[in-house]
Order: sequence, then C-alpha cells, then structure tokens
Amino acid sequence: MNSGRPKPYNSFETAQEQFDAVATRLGLDTGTRELLRSPLREYSFAIPVRMDDGSVRVFRGFRVQHNDARGPCKGGIRFHPLETLDTVRALAMWMTWKCAVVDIPLGGGKGGIICDPHNLSLAEQERLCRGFVRQVVRNVGPTLDVPAPDVMTSGQHMLWMLDEFEAIRGEHLPGFITGKPVGLGGSLGRTEATGYGVVFTIRETLRELGLRAEDTRASVQGFGNVAQYAIELLMQLGGTVTCVSCWDQKDQVAYSYRRRSGVDLAELRSITDRFGGIDSKRARELGYEVLDGDAWLEQEVEILIPAALENQIHIDNVDRIAPTVRLIAEGANGPTGPRADAVIRERGIFMIPDLLANSGGVTCSYFEQVQSNMNYYWSRDEVLGKLDLKMTSAFRAVAELAQRENLYMRDAAYVIAVTRVAQASRDRGWV
Ligand code: NAD
Repeated sequence: MNSGRPKPYNSFETAQEQFDAVATRLGLDTGTRELLRSPLREYSFAIPVRMDDGSVRVFRGFRVQHNDARGPCKGGIRFHPLETLDTVRALAMWMTWKCAVVDIPLGGGKGGIICDPHNLSLAEQERLCRGFVRQVVRNVGPTLDVPAPDVMTSGQHMLWMLDEFEAIRGEHLPGFITGKPVGLGGSLGRTEATGYGVVFTIRETLRELGLRAEDTRASVQGFGNVAQYAIELLMQLGGTVTCVSCWDQKDQVAYSYRRRSGVDLAELRSITDRFGGIDSKRARELGYEVLDGDAWLEQEVEILIPAALENQIHIDNVDRIAPTVRLIAEGANGPTGPRADAVIRERGIFMIPDLLANSGGVTCSYFEQVQSNMNYYWSRDEVLGKLDLKMTSAFRAVAELAQRENLYMRDAAYVIAVTRVAQASRDRGWV
C-alpha cells in the first residue's frame, strides 16, 4: 500500500538502480545481471561485549562480500549507530566497481557494526573489535577479504582486529587488514593518497580541456583528510583555492571560508581540529570572509571539489554553480544527487566521478596489502609514483571511452567497471 509519504533513501536500491542502467546499456544476460546486482555473501552476527561495568551488551555486526571474481574483497568497517545491512550492501557493491575501474586485482566488500563509539570506552571498543574478528575469522583474511578503516574507525581499531586475527591463526598475517599505522605494517603515502589521487585526475582533465593549473581557481567542500591533501597538491601544481567549506561543531552549521586571492593552507590547518572543522572566529580574525555552507558551490572558479559528504549537490542548489565552472572532481562518495547530476551533464561540465576520482584511497590500501604480504616496505615516493601511474592510466581509459562513445564520464567509468567484473565472472565459469 502506498502511504503517500516519500520512501526513505535506501542506498542499496540506488546502487542497484545504477547497476541496472549499466547492465541494460551493456546488454548483460539475465544470469550475469542476477549475480552482480546482489552480494555473493553476507554475514550478519551478534557480538557480545563485556562492558566496563561488568554487564554484557550484544552488538550487531555485518560483513558483506559483494563480488570477488577479480580478487579478494576489499572495503572498510564502519561504526555507526544507524548502520544497516542495506547500507553495507550498497557500499560493498560500490567497492567492487571502484576496484575494477582503477584495475586493481580486488573485489568489493564492506563491514559495519551498529554502535556509537562516542559512548564506548577505549577498552570496550577494543573488545568490540576483537569480538567482530572472532565472528568473521573463517571468512576473512589476506587472500579472502581484507578490511580497512572507515567512518569512525581508525588505525588503532585495525591493529586490535589484526592482533585478534593473528592470535587465532597463530601466525603473523599483516596483509589481513589495511590502514595500519606506519611502522606497524602501514604504508607511507596512505594519508595523502585519496586527496592526491583526486588531483592526479584533475591534472589529466585540465590537459583534456586545454587549461593550465596556474590559470585555475578551485572551491572545495570539506577540510578533512581528502580535502586538505587535494588542496595541498593542487597548490603545488600552481592552482589557487579561493574557498573551503566545513562543518562547525560549535554552531552546528556549515560555513564557507573565502579569500579571493587564495587561502593559505598552512594557516587554515593551524586553526582546524582533528575532525576537519575550522575555527570560524579565528578564520574571521585572519581576514577570511565567512559565508553560508552552500556558498562554496557558487564561487567563480573553474574547479569544484566536493570532498565532505554524500548528496551535497542536489536539485535545490545545483543552479548555484557558477558559469565559470569547467570541472567537478568528486572527492567524496556520492556527493552529487541523481537529478543534480543530470543538470551538470546537461550543462556540459566535465565530471570526474567518485569511483574514479577518490579511488586513490583503495589503490594505496592495495599497495599496503602488497607490502604487508611481502613484509617489505616502499618509500613514499615509490608509493605515490605507483599511485600516479595507476590513476592516470585509469583516467585515460575512462576518458577515451567517454570520447569514443560520446558518454558522460560517470557512465563510461561504470561501463568499464561492470564490464571487467562481468568478464571475470564469465571467465571463471560462474555465469
Ligand atoms: P573527514 O572526516 O576527514 O572530513 C570530512 C570533512 O567534511 C570535514 O572537514 C567536515 O567538517 C566536513 N563536513 C562535514 N559535514 C559538512 C557539511 N554539511 N558541509 C560542509 N562540510 C562538511 O573525511 P574524509 O576522510 O576527508 O572523507 C571525505 C569524503 O571522502 C567522504 O565521503 C569519504 O567517504 C570519502 N572518501 C574518503 C577516503 C579516504 O581515504 N579518507 C577515500 C575515499 C572516499
């Protein structure tokens, strides 16, 4: 029965709709469609945890393995009070496409625990991490499924999980998990990989458009890990960033910070907390104009980099994008709503879609896994050099297909990703 109310947003339905559109474009047969539109394996389990006060609380955890035809599954583990199995399914599916478009030999997975770490002591979080591993130990591992940090999980959580995994298996297996601290199996370059990767794709786009970085201005949403390193490399290439936007925890609102002559990255970093929140009072004192949260979108710039959250460019604000904008690089996952995306496509703005633009993170995680499995670690230059090569060749493949078939970049990226996964599934004789 239709209640007349809008349906709540379900990211798995969105992911399936996106897939269906590509499957139709590619003319995939029914069996392949059926296989790829749902996860191969899903684990949903209880995690009993002894709390500090002696009581036991039972948490719910999920691990979803969407597809591993091209290699072991890869994807983060999130802590979130509103985590759902459907969200994890969608994220696992998107990981499959991301790994495929950048052509790394991995499949897609994702995990989650319904919890709010703000209300858990560190000792309780440690027991929760160890409990998660005990439930999935038979189904994950360096050659099966390799987790990583994600929303509200960190290198510390990864180390606890690794320690539990190794204790159960009775051997050192640092390739079980990525996002580990440098010196304990982590990779140099991982911190900057996603933001730098975004800029590698911007650099290639500027070549396509016949623009010089020195002649471009950019406006960025977010001032966290992805945004800060994207700004850093863009400035090194000669670009100017005139505006950044982020969430103000104190005022519970987002602000945009503008300096038309260009923001000073070091100065802004010095007044930013570890969650990527800029101190608005100090920014004002330093001479930044403090504007509303959406103002980053309407700046007279050539480049927009949404690098905060999903669904930030939507049908109600897409018209605020200035006519000067030539390209959008999606640092965040899913920052553009489907209706806004149609407007951007119509306007002929060059779109570097999330699955390509922010794939530097998972690519570097793959490098960490390789280094961990070899127990031999590369220099930062080696990591970032390999990252550049990988992302540039992925960009070229997508851009060439887009040009040849007159496709929007997002569609071209999906076509390449789904074709590769479908082919691997066929080659294995699954379909
Ligand atoms: P982060 O937590 O370090 O930073 C998030 C930033 O977004 C902060 O500056 C925060 O203030 C800002 N923000 C939050 N709400 C906002 C709002 N309403 N308006 C404006 N700004 C707001 O996160 P991150 O690691 O930089 O990730 C950013 C995005 O990139 C996410 O979508 C994430 O899934 C995606 N991503 C991250 C990585 C990675 O390696 N970190 C890899 C791939 C994709």
